[in-house]
Amino acid sequence: MVVSLQGKTNAFTVDRIPFNKPYLSGKELYYISQTIHSGKSSGNNQFTKKCHAWFKEHYEFPKSLLTTSCTDALEMASILINIQPGDEVIMPSYTFVSTANAFILRGAIIRFADCYSNNPNIDPDQIEPLINEKTKAIIVVHYAGIACDMDKILAIANKHSLYVIEDAAQAIDSNYKGKPLGTIGDISAFSYHETKNIICGEGGMLVVNNPDFQSRSEIIWEKGTNRSAFFRGEVDKYGWVDVGSSFLPSEILAAFLYAQLEHLDEIQSKRKAIWNRYNEAFQDLEKSGKIEQLPFVPDYGEQNGHLFYVLCKNPEDRAGLINHLKANNVHAVFHYLSLHKSPFYKDKHDGRELPNTDKFADCLVRLPLYFELSEDQQAHVIDSVINYFN
Ligand SMILES: *Cc1c(COP(=O)(O)O)cnc(C)c1O
Repeated sequence: MVVSLQGKTNAFTVDRIPFNKPYLSGKELYYISQTIHSGKSSGNNQFTKKCHAWFKEHYEFPKSLLTTSCTDALEMASILINIQPGDEVIMPSYTFVSTANAFILRGAIIRFADCYSNNPNIDPDQIEPLINEKTKAIIVVHYAGIACDMDKILAIANKHSLYVIEDAAQAIDSNYKGKPLGTIGDISAFSYHETKNIICGEGGMLVVNNPDFQSRSEIIWEKGTNRSAFFRGEVDKYGWVDVGSSFLPSEILAAFLYAQLEHLDEIQSKRKAIWNRYNEAFQDLEKSGKIEQLPFVPDYGEQNGHLFYVLCKNPEDRAGLINHLKANNVHAVFHYLSLHKSPFYKDKHDGRELPNTDKFADCLVRLPLYFELSEDQQAHVIDSVINYFN
């Protein structure tokens, strides 16, 4: 179906505007064919090393390990901090299931903390009351790539000797007080799933900041063997030295990712410009109270062009907006269902109400944001949103 826009002198037609469209920078297939023809398409070869070096150079990540997903990186984090059955971890309820599952798989109990009323990130003031002698770690999620208040969270963690893990799945190329996200907690996890800013289909990365975990992280990554140390010539044979799994991706994924990294600056500036255009266009909707709010960016953080949302006043408005956009050929989507109310966890949750989490789960809408979204297409999305509320 094609919709023509009324009231525009240069009338154009709008094909359906998808929510996301994965962007290819150009060299992906070339690098993938190189790795296949080289006869070395298994993990930890040339392109994996190029990606690791790129991250060290650009963000000073002390130790990066590509993984097949952010989910895998979170599972590695859970092994590294040695989660045992009955240990407790604190995290937001407004997040993707993998944040919680990685710890559930090792027998942890999840204590969900509420987010702020004006920001879907974990509210540090909600964390301390949940800490007890079984608490092992605080897991933060930088929602929409906008930083959590890490100084407050680190202060709580230090006071109680807890680990801090950053779920930085959405947080590539973003900062907290000028420091790259992913370098602040003991361990961090990134995602290169096709819905994220830079992609390789399914992919992710573990970043290990705490030196105590660096050598073991490599072993867990390589199926519990010291194969990486062997190839560096540090040991004369390699064998089974610890638990682990096959967390490392093939070179085919690393080659895909490297082609994206080479264009990161271009991808980021385009995505951030789209984000800024939405934000400017909707100022009046926020000021006039027709919507609850636009994304809140604290002084200590910034947006990284990952996702743009509008928080509606109530679930009816949200459903109406999504339907209105659909009728105008725009695909907009809500986001997380609160994990503390999920079919899997609701009976295990300690029963506390998390009203701010519920508000974001019930009222948030994400708008199309991808590299190839043209200005005309974005103008159509903006007009359609504004029309709905007027
Ligand atoms: C995308 C996402 C994940 C999962 O990433 P995968 O690479 O698909 O495993 C985890 N946490 C958050 C916050 C995410 O946005």
